[in-house]
Order: sequence, then C-alpha cells, then structure tokens
Amino acid sequence: MSEVYTRDKPTYFGAGPALLPTPVLQQASKDLISYLNNGIGVGEISHRSADALNIINSTKENLVKILDIPTDTHEVFFLQGGGTSGFSSVATNLLASFAKKTGKKGKTGYLVTGSWSKKSYEEAQRLGIDAELVTNGINNSGKFGDIDAPSNWKQLDPKETAFVYYCDNETVNGVEFKNPPYEATANGEIELAADFSSNFLSKKIDVSKYGLIFAGAQKNVGIAGIVIYIIKKSLLDQPTTEELRKLEIPITPIAFHFPTVVKNNSAYNTIPIFTVHVLNLVLEHLINNGGLEAQENENEAKAQLLYKSLEKFPQLFNLPVASAVRSNMNVVFTLNSKENETKFLEEAAAQKLNGLKGHRSVGGIRASIYNAVDLETVEKLVAFIEKFAGEV
Ligand code: PMP
Repeated sequence: MSEVYTRDKPTYFGAGPALLPTPVLQQASKDLISYLNNGIGVGEISHRSADALNIINSTKENLVKILDIPTDTHEVFFLQGGGTSGFSSVATNLLASFAKKTGKKGKTGYLVTGSWSKKSYEEAQRLGIDAELVTNGINNSGKFGDIDAPSNWKQLDPKETAFVYYCDNETVNGVEFKNPPYEATANGEIELAADFSSNFLSKKIDVSKYGLIFAGAQKNVGIAGIVIYIIKKSLLDQPTTEELRKLEIPITPIAFHFPTVVKNNSAYNTIPIFTVHVLNLVLEHLINNGGLEAQENENEAKAQLLYKSLEKFPQLFNLPVASAVRSNMNVVFTLNSKENETKFLEEAAAQKLNGLKGHRSVGGIRASIYNAVDLETVEKLVAFIEKFAGEV
C-alpha cells in the first residue's frame, strides 16, 4: 500500500462507538486490504482459517495477560452482537448453569443503578425470569445518580439464586462502581455477573471474583459487532434442552449458547474476524503503552481534572452524580439554563470539541473520556470549560 491514511488528532467525546487510537486504525485499514501481506484482507478470510484461528487465540492471550485472567478457572470467548444481546444470553445461560448444579429454576438479583442495568433487569422479566431488585438507584431522588449503601440492599438466598447482576459503569447516567458489589453475593456464594461495556480495560479488576463478565467492544476496546465474555468454567455445564423445558427455563438460541460457543473456540458460526482483529490491535496498543496500570492512572487523572474544573463553577455547572460514584469514563453535567447548554455545545463544536451532547433520555452534557481520549485532549476540554465559565 503506498498511502497511509492519517487525520488531525480528534477531540471527540462521543459515548460510543467511540474514539480509537489512530495507529490502531491505520494498521487495521492496511490489514483490511492485505493481511500479513497475503494479498487478501482480514475481512475476507474464512473464520476457520489458520490466520483467523491465530487472531482469536492471540486476542484471548492478550486479554488473559492484560487482566491477569486465571485460566484454570475462567474462559474467554467472543460472540457477535452487542451489550443488549448480552442481557438475555447472560440470564438464560446462567439460569441453565444453576439448574445443572441444583436441579432448580433459580431466581436472579439485579442492582439497578442506571438505564443499562434497568434495561437488563427488564429483559430478564420479559423472558419470564424471576428477577428481584437488590437495589434501585432511582429510589434515591427519582433519578439515577447514586448507589445505595450495601446495608440497604436486599439479601438473596444463595440456595435459590442463580446470579446477581450489575452494570459496573452506567454510560448514560455517569454512575460507576468503585468496588464490585460483593456484598450482594452472600460471601461469594451467589455468582456475580457484570456488564463492563463502557469501562472494560479502563481499570484493574479481580476476575476471580466474577462468575461472568461481558463487554460490548465499541466503547473502550474496539468497533461495534462483538462482545467479549469471561466466564467461570464451572458455569459451562448445562442440563439438556429437555430438562430445561421441564424446569420452564428459557432455551438459549444456539448461537448464544455459551457451552457451544466455547467448545468451538468462538467460531461456532461466523465470528466477524476483522472486528476481533481490531480488538487485538487495541490490546497490543494498550500493552505497548504500559498496560492496564498506566491506563488506569491516566484515566483517574483525566477524570479528576475534569470534575475539579467543573466543581470550580457551581453557579454554572451542576454535577448530578454523588461524588463517591462518579464515572471515570462518562462525565455527565448540566448547565444552569437550557440557553447556556446550547451555547456551550455550539462554542465547543466551534473549537472542534465534539460528541458532548448528553444522552437523549437525560439531556445535559456528557464527556466520554474512554481510554483513547488522552490527558492532553481532556486538558483542551478543561481549558474551554474555564474560558466559557469566565465569559458567560
Ligand atoms: N451496556 C452498557 C453499559 C452500554 O453502555 C450499552 C450501550 N452501548 C449497552 C449495554 C447496550 O449495548 P449495545 O447497543 O451494543 O446493545
């Protein structure tokens, strides 16, 4: 290829699909045309070819390395789809695992702390699954913006409960767990399932504490189209379809049946291998830039800088999320009037600071500062915020 495409450094704060490192995209665009100089692109090869298998295995190995995944107990796999397909497949697969262990149709528990965990809870109910609310963040003030103290959570019976589910970072509401909600698991007796779609690989986590982790790729680690799953191997045993039918447990569609997908090394059906490859390029980029620890430190510094700057002007900016649970990824705020909000967005756009409009369901402003948005870019936003505050 004679030409390498490039671009001015973007100052883009969109919530997802979101920014990716330019060198990753340059490599991906080259590989889309000719992978390993084979004269054929990575999106054109069979998902069962040796090259595709290498991509899947290398991506898994890099995830194991970055997150220190205990491979004796946990397994990594990929599936087509998005966070939403995770809602149903997590619920039906984990119910089946529980039935295998206990012979029972289990209950489930949901920590609802924002609109994505709410959607997942509603999906479980829609499927006829017995879903209990462990906590409901909307009860605090009629809006999501805090996480109730664990002492107020509903405690579930480990003998009856297949899993407890939560969303580690609520993308729309800007609420993030600073510690996993182990208090809801009856000392680890109940499996913990988590949606990390909007903060996956933004910080270190102890994978051994989880029954299941899933994350849509398109915010922090790649482009849309795949979901990364990490599952405890002991949860891959499921009863037969007949047994599940007898227990009235919803049958998981085969393409989302975790044991089948794992048995086929994520290629039971056509996995979008280009999308997995982009994920792998992001992982390599992360490793070459100091790994998760360096990334976590930078993310913390970015978020602190931005929140501190907004806090300097309380008459102009309102931060609706309780300070202890403010997201390091999605910084949400409102201005003191609709007019000032519009002016803020217009003037920001004139400075090429884009993607700042809040989610349509909550309005306001949202600055998403995922891994690919570096400190320098956040500094530009902060300089704009302070200049704006001085002028209105
Ligand atoms: N979970 C979280 C935390 C999200 O931010 C989103 C939105 N991207 C989803 C789930 C749903 O993802 P998708 O649109 O890929 O189904």
